[in-house]
Amino acid sequence: MRALRAPTAFDGERFLEGGATVLVEGDRIAGVEGYGFQVPDGVEVTTYDGTLLPGLVDAHVHLVADGVPGSLEAAPTLSDHDLAAMVSRTLAQHAAAGVTTVRDLGDTRYVTLGFRDALAPGVPRVVAAGPPFTTENGHCHYLGGVAEGPVAIRAAVAERVERGVDVIKVMASGGMLTPGSDQLGVQFSAPDIALITLLGHEAGLPVVAHTHSVRGAWHALEAGVDGLEHFTCLTDDGMVTSAELLDALAATGVVVDQTTGWNRDLIDIDRMPAPLRMLTEKLGLLPDAMVLARADQARRIREHGVEIVVGTDAGISPPKTHGDTTWRAVVELAAAVPLEEALARATSYAASVVGVAAVTGRLHAGLDADLLVVDGDVRADASSLSRPVAVLVRGAEPLPHSP
Ligand SMILES: [Zn+2]
Repeated sequence: MRALRAPTAFDGERFLEGGATVLVEGDRIAGVEGYGFQVPDGVEVTTYDGTLLPGLVDAHVHLVADGVPGSLEAAPTLSDHDLAAMVSRTLAQHAAAGVTTVRDLGDTRYVTLGFRDALAPGVPRVVAAGPPFTTENGHCHYLGGVAEGPVAIRAAVAERVERGVDVIKVMASGGMLTPGSDQLGVQFSAPDIALITLLGHEAGLPVVAHTHSVRGAWHALEAGVDGLEHFTCLTDDGMVTSAELLDALAATGVVVDQTTGWNRDLIDIDRMPAPLRMLTEKLGLLPDAMVLARADQARRIREHGVEIVVGTDAGISPPKTHGDTTWRAVVELAAAVPLEEALARATSYAASVVGVAAVTGRLHAGLDADLLVVDGDVRADASSLSRPVAVLVRGAEPLPHSP
């Protein structure tokens, strides 16, 4: 047994007065005690001067891409060996940053399921969707998840069930990274997206939808999905999040993931593909304006009683490098909601949304020892989250990774 001690501690829901001592036995948390707890003889204690909290949970990543432009599109062209090496590396980036659980919402060839099942020491837990459902030439079609019409959809859901996915992902609108897909419109007919959702639910799987457009959000909501990813709420006039839409989400319990957490220093408008750049400028989505708009949207989502989970879309572009997004998303959310709530949205609450609350997300005896210690008091400076000094993934230190 060993112990980690810090004068500031967040248990997944609230800060623990005076800090905490967390006892670790093998891969589990054996106890959560006060800072001054007298540990039993023979227990090695490491005392930190920062903040101790549960490992972070990111509800939306793409492990098959490493943020290099074009890497998501290129993933299907990689050999099995290179694809697995990519996923190993991107998982290691999350682990190094203290992200100990990730929900992958779009891989290719179901590669992430092998990592989920392996549960290798020091490697984050994976919750996996496999290839996302999309339409012919639709968003991320190259990942291999095209299925339209009842026959193809039934076969595609059956394939995912047989593979053992944890969640179904459906692209309900076009996406920024797929030229020719309709970011302001919808994908799938209403009966098709309703069938995907129905069959997913019949198989006991949650269904989450990628939506950039307001129309896409309604389309997915009417189909009965459980979560909306991005929720950019684009219209011809920019980002418009109506009270009517928020009330409808609240009434049905749909969870929103804004996929924030950009490194704005790495956003280069001039190097964006021309159509994306035009859309960005036309809709007023330039980085600084976007951060303010997202914070305002988060406040309104909360006021309307809709739940937010932290996810980031890590892996899709340089400003979305694995390991560098999740803490940023928490900091951005903390500008709109109380810090404890923002942290819970990336720990205990996120664990429940992605289906792993029984094993992680809190400092609690019996749960997996998924722990993060950061340098500094998170209450004084939320960006302390960017400075991990110790990480345990199920009791094991992460393996080093190449940058
Ligand atoms: Zn995504």
